[in-house]
Amino acid sequence: MPLRVLALGTGNCSNGYAPHTDRKPPGFLVDADGVLVLLDCSEGIRYRLQEAGYEYGLVQHVAVTHGHPDHACLPQFLQAKSCRRLWGKDQPEFGVCTVYMPSKLVKGFQTVWDWHQPENDGKYWPEFTPRFVAMGQGSAVGIAPDVTLKSFPVYHGFGRHPAVAYRLETPHGVVAYSGDSAICDGLVEAARNADLFICEQSFRIGYKDTARYGHLTPREVGEVCKRAGAEKVRLTHYVGLDKASDVLEEIKKGGFNGDVKHAKDGEEWTVA
Ligand SMILES: [Zn+2]
Repeated sequence: MPLRVLALGTGNCSNGYAPHTDRKPPGFLVDADGVLVLLDCSEGIRYRLQEAGYEYGLVQHVAVTHGHPDHACLPQFLQAKSCRRLWGKDQPEFGVCTVYMPSKLVKGFQTVWDWHQPENDGKYWPEFTPRFVAMGQGSAVGIAPDVTLKSFPVYHGFGRHPAVAYRLETPHGVVAYSGDSAICDGLVEAARNADLFICEQSFRIGYKDTARYGHLTPREVGEVCKRAGAEKVRLTHYVGLDKASDVLEEIKKGGFNGDVKHAKDGEEWTVA
């Protein structure tokens, strides 16, 4: 079975605006022969998993790129998984979840959980205790036989926001995901020769990020993809106010002449 990748959310921190009213916040599901890896965990992701025919209770690996709310609605997802086991079908897999995220976020998340569950003294439940794995420079975690998740720190949020890009290596091929990032070496390394690179393109054509916030213009997407030698590129997190054909032209000017398209919610890609 080839690797399946589902686009659950190709939008950003807002939605409902023209011309892309139907794009939801970030989330991608990788199905590697039944090993389910969720890349970013935005609000309502469980509903979109269900719509795509997946039981969210069975998702045992959640990789969060950074803590901005459009990428990291973790308390909601963890509570839903836990209650799925309490009130729904009791399957042991429902009680298992490993969350991968930048190390600073692992430490900070305990405060978030205390805020949500003070009655538990910040603990989880006996039937559901998620495991947190700190990801940073050079992290490589074997999450299943022949499936390795690697992380690469990237530049985002004025360089003050802990953020990583992910690279999932499987026997079928490599999937890379930028999260939110400016042009930087970590992003290039994450996408090195990737079969599929899901790459953010948040800034509009010609935007000069003089404040160094940390996103990519289309031309920078082209530069990153060329340097990385990525095979197939799907754009995500784009605002959509530039004409799609102009964006693709800019990516060419950045140096990338390969297979690149705007991702849409509900799309499915295979890597074989
Ligand atoms: Zn962000």
